[in-house]
Amino acid sequence: MSPKDQKCVQLYRIVFSFIFIDAKLHTGSQSSGISYPRTHISTQLDGDSKSFRSLDFIEALSTIDIETSNYVPLLEECIDRKSLSGAQNVHSHIIKTGTHEDVFTMRFLANVYAKCGAMENARKVFDTLPCKNVVAWTALMTGYLHNDQPAAAMYVFIQMLECGSYPTNYTLGSALAACSALNAVELGKQIHAYSIKYQLEHDTSVGNSLCGLYSKCRSLNSAMKAFQKIREKDLISWTIIISACGDNSRAARGLRFFSEMLADNVEPNEFTLTSALKQCCTMLSLKVGAQVHSLSIKLGYDSCLPVRNSIMYLYLKHRRFREAQQLFSGMEDRSLVTMNSMIAGYAEMMDIAKDNLSAYHNGTEALEIFSTLNSSGLKPDIYTFSSVLSICSKMLALQQGEQVHAQTLKTGNLQDFIVATALVNMYNNCGSTERANKAFQEMSARTLISWTTMITALTHNGQSQQALQLFEDMRLAGVRPNPITIAGALSACAHAGMVDEALGYFEMMQKDYKIKPVMDHYTCLIDLFVRLGWLDEASDLIKKMDFEPNECVWSLLLAGCKRHGNTELGLHAAEKLLELKPKDAETYVLMLNMFKSADRWEDVSKVRELIREKKLEKLTDWSWISSKGKVYSFKCDEKQAYGDDVNELLDELREKAKSLLGYETLESFDLVDEEDEEEKSSSRVHSEELAAAFGLLNIHDAAPIRIIKNTSMCRDCHNFMKAISSLNAREIIVRDSKLLHKFVNGQCSCGDFGGLLL
Ligand SMILES: [Zn+2]
Ligand SMILES: [Zn+2]
Repeated sequence: MSPKDQKCVQLYRIVFSFIFIDAKLHTGSQSSGISYPRTHISTQLDGDSKSFRSLDFIEALSTIDIETSNYVPLLEECIDRKSLSGAQNVHSHIIKTGTHEDVFTMRFLANVYAKCGAMENARKVFDTLPCKNVVAWTALMTGYLHNDQPAAAMYVFIQMLECGSYPTNYTLGSALAACSALNAVELGKQIHAYSIKYQLEHDTSVGNSLCGLYSKCRSLNSAMKAFQKIREKDLISWTIIISACGDNSRAARGLRFFSEMLADNVEPNEFTLTSALKQCCTMLSLKVGAQVHSLSIKLGYDSCLPVRNSIMYLYLKHRRFREAQQLFSGMEDRSLVTMNSMIAGYAEMMDIAKDNLSAYHNGTEALEIFSTLNSSGLKPDIYTFSSVLSICSKMLALQQGEQVHAQTLKTGNLQDFIVATALVNMYNNCGSTERANKAFQEMSARTLISWTTMITALTHNGQSQQALQLFEDMRLAGVRPNPITIAGALSACAHAGMVDEALGYFEMMQKDYKIKPVMDHYTCLIDLFVRLGWLDEASDLIKKMDFEPNECVWSLLLAGCKRHGNTELGLHAAEKLLELKPKDAETYVLMLNMFKSADRWEDVSKVRELIREKKLEKLTDWSWISSKGKVYSFKCDEKQAYGDDVNELLDELREKAKSLLGYETLESFDLVDEEDEEEKSSSRVHSEELAAAFGLLNIHDAAPIRIIKNTSMCRDCHNFMKAISSLNAREIIVRDSKLLHKFVNGQCSCGDFGGLLL
């Protein structure tokens, strides 16, 4: 070795020892007893060695001639079976027969140990070799590298240089791969310089490793340069550069490389295909994705799991749910990635479902996949848990949510912030604020987001005092509220009718936190005034705002006018809404009823015109509950469909409510617009009433009855539910399209003015 090269080696050692001070401990024949964690390779060995028929070996060994070449097939067999115990048997035989003097056999044995994941044994055998050539050094390095010990591999590389051996292209390739695994860019660059000096950078192995190294340290241009310099690009070279583009957010370039590769007549493998498909996902290019899909079928990779997962994910990303579902149901074995993608896909389908009922069905499908996952022996991870919790939350599936909670505790996944937040949300959404609060208090770290969610949720569940207390706790903890947190506090004040506090927070927001009020903040104040019946104040505030009032503001005012009987202002709000052409179907119901009650039929037909123009689905009154994993849906007025028991119970309850609690039936509110007034039935039964009666008859053990309804509740049903909760001493939770109503002992958590009670 020239003095200059020696200097180089010294430099490597210095750089290396800085980075991996303790790497030496893990290598060398004088093992200190400190070992690397066993990799999956060695774990697998235990299983294999049991099934290994060691008798065969002993038999073979007893008949073996001491010809050294006879050991080779046996050792090869050990590699094939990854059998450490087999290798050890052969090893002791070799010693007994004195064959350990043979360098060739011992080199081979070292290699076998490395391949079986037993690096300590490999190193021991290697150290006994009287002459260590570059092939042996490189094999040892590669052994460490493949057993997830890149630092040890680098250490061997430096030892080799110190012993005066010259590296080959393979050695350099391995050294570069080790640098890449260690994120040791500077060291990698030194080895790059070395390979230029010895004109090895055009070599495939070196080039591939360089490409991988530069990609990993986010320097795609250097990776592409290294790639271009490779004289004979193989499949690995192409696959590395294509993935490199994907990892460095250059998906379009990656796909160009993919087509260049095909033009070069290189056939892709599953890794190349998976990487190309991922880039189609990033580019949102379904067309190219479909082409890659058909290519993978042509090449026989259609049953390959990672490829199928990527295609399924591509379809999900494009919301082509049916195609994704088809692929999913056709899969024989599914990985955690498959299951997670599909569960997340269903969660997304829930969000964009055309109505709450189909959303509910999607949720049920997702929960079914989750239960298959659990029984398949796969271990759900934080992605699974957070998706499933958010699904339970949307479905009000408290029971399933509780089971998932227990599972996250057991698996330690609750430590994760996203899972913990999803859990808090689930409990809140299901109306179980006590448990939500407990989960919130137990979170290992709280962020502004978790504080804000909890404050908003308490408000939604009608626990204004607790929400405001939490807001103060948050400020005490030194967390600065954002506009959404303030809106949560203002909304709590609105629910509780606390004017002074609300105005105080409104001022504090601007003075102390320099937050300019936005529409949401004004909406909370208007909501507050409307609830108190201060319609003029609400109207004044609307005039004073710096913004054009939106649909939400006018519908709040309109609902308030309806409630407090101010027709003049109500009609004004309805006229304003008519100009705005609102998006919400329920706003149209409010407008229609306002104009109808004032006999303004011309405006009624204008509203109907708008409904047709907007192609708004007719507002159908649906409710549903789930019991023992089954979903029951209820439709307005379909009294007969649910049996006599339900109707009898409803009549009985209504009578009792009248006689015992002074409940009076209010004039039924039209949730559905009937153009033909003649056809309107005189006594209307809304879907949640049917659902509640069904629940009382069928859900036992005093559990709360949880109902989901796809429109807002009407005031009559709201009163009736309060009565039922008191008569039956049963908690009833109705989540309508606007709010969660929790009826306990004749009271509702919304304080009788749930957003837009119709
Ligand atoms: Zn109703
Ligand atoms: Zn309510």
